[in-house]
Amino acid sequence: MAAKTSKRNPARELFFGNLWEYDPAPETAAPHIEPRYRLFINGKHTEPKTKKYFDSISPRNAEKLSEIALAGPVDVNAAYEAAAAAFEKWRKVPGAERGKYLYRIARLLQDRAREFAVAETLDGGKPIKESRDFDVPMAAAHFFYHAGWADKLDYATPGRMLMPLGVVGQVIPWNFPLLMLAWKIAPALACGNTLVLKPAETTSITCMKFASILEDAGLPPGVVNFVTGAGETGHALVNHPLAKKIAFTGSTAVGKAIQRSLAGSSKRLTLELGGKAANIVFDDAAIDQAVEGIINGIFFNQGHVCCAGSRLLVQESIAAAVLGKLKIRMRSLRVGDPMDKNTDIGAINSQKQLKKITELVESGIAEGAEIHQPSCPLPDKGYYFPPTLFSGVTLSHRIAREEIFGPVLSIMTFRTPEEAVEKANNTPYGLSAGVWTDKGSLILKMSSELKAGVVWANTYNKFDPASPFGGYKESGFGREGGKQGLLEYAELL
Ligand code: NAP
Ligand code: MG
Repeated sequence: MAAKTSKRNPARELFFGNLWEYDPAPETAAPHIEPRYRLFINGKHTEPKTKKYFDSISPRNAEKLSEIALAGPVDVNAAYEAAAAAFEKWRKVPGAERGKYLYRIARLLQDRAREFAVAETLDGGKPIKESRDFDVPMAAAHFFYHAGWADKLDYATPGRMLMPLGVVGQVIPWNFPLLMLAWKIAPALACGNTLVLKPAETTSITCMKFASILEDAGLPPGVVNFVTGAGETGHALVNHPLAKKIAFTGSTAVGKAIQRSLAGSSKRLTLELGGKAANIVFDDAAIDQAVEGIINGIFFNQGHVCCAGSRLLVQESIAAAVLGKLKIRMRSLRVGDPMDKNTDIGAINSQKQLKKITELVESGIAEGAEIHQPSCPLPDKGYYFPPTLFSGVTLSHRIAREEIFGPVLSIMTFRTPEEAVEKANNTPYGLSAGVWTDKGSLILKMSSELKAGVVWANTYNKFDPASPFGGYKESGFGREGGKQGLLEYAELL
């Protein structure tokens, strides 16, 4: 598709970098990726009974990084049996001791932060500055936070006792592989559960590397088990009879299928699913700050973010000004090699995801929206997509309704706060939203009326392990993080 660019402005280009190119700034730390990863069951690296392995491809250059074991139902069963046997001992380990393991894990991850950041970027395609400054430190922060809870569970719910559930089954997606793993493992262990976890097919490497951290931390065998594979492995995992709870993060379609298959069973379920967040800018907002928030809200991690601010709602009186500033700001985004420390937008996680984004963007053009893309050269090899903005979008456009999960923003307008709320809530999803205004009272009104699990005010994409995260409606149910997330892994007596 033809990229549409604004008129050239040499003075601006001088400031925004089109003329003064950055030198390459490649990250050079070794990721220590093995040529082949087996399953991690009962503390041992185990051959899959299927005898099958699949390739893990780096989206950065479409080259093979490693081979990953394909776990079948027999392997999943072995992992559950190991977790069930380990639970009988782990449940008796005092909270203070469990906390020590979690502190150890957090510190070991910090020690190897650079190595893990490089591996995460090579495997998933996200810019190294994000893996280095967000994914890995946040993953460590989740272990630190939950280490603190492990010996204080009696204080979480005064007068009640928190008991572990038993063995939990966990399935995670490919957009924040290590961070999602931390969100799942840390609270489960803090409460005294054991677990079986499956990473996503395209991003299993940091999970399997994480097994070495568990070994170095001396975690007893069987407490954490990793089975790798695709949807079928996930299916076997969520339907295993030994699972007392399933925690799933992924798409709404798969989440619904899991909910159907667990109906009538006594298994607990939490679902963290898709989103189509509204980022709402009022005419009294600090515009330049809002523009940065909009850019971060949609282009962070190539837009592979469940809470991405993919629907921009701007008050009509400032819409033209905001659109103009966004177009200029988008021209200074650096798209390309995720291993370059100056890269803002890295590689799209997989060829399949690139195809999905391309198809949805084509639907936007076909349905009459106006596309704006800066002219930026994309690498010849690997999977890349330029930052994209659509104006002239209405709520009925597919690009305004469906989760694109890519660097694509749709801009729409509103006149009154009531109209903004109505448009923002006009979606089956309800994960997150952003509000930009100078008025505290308007922030309070909006956050109480927006049907979203998280509402950010005058900022976007802020995370903290102490703060619960989760959705409404088709974005799922249950919370991760904070005390609320902790309680999802415990029975109250
Ligand atoms: P997905 O296709 O639903 O996959 C998620 C995980 O489920 C993967 O590990 C996948 O395996 C596995 N899976 C696939 N079919 C399964 C089945 N029938 N039973 C059990 N597990 C199965 O989602 P995705 O494309 O990886 O991730 C993107 C989605 O995740 C987006 O919709 C995004 O919004 C959502 N997400 C939500 C949150 C949140 O906190 N709400 C956070 C991050 C992402 P394979 O991929 O290996 O085949
Ligand atoms: Mg990969």
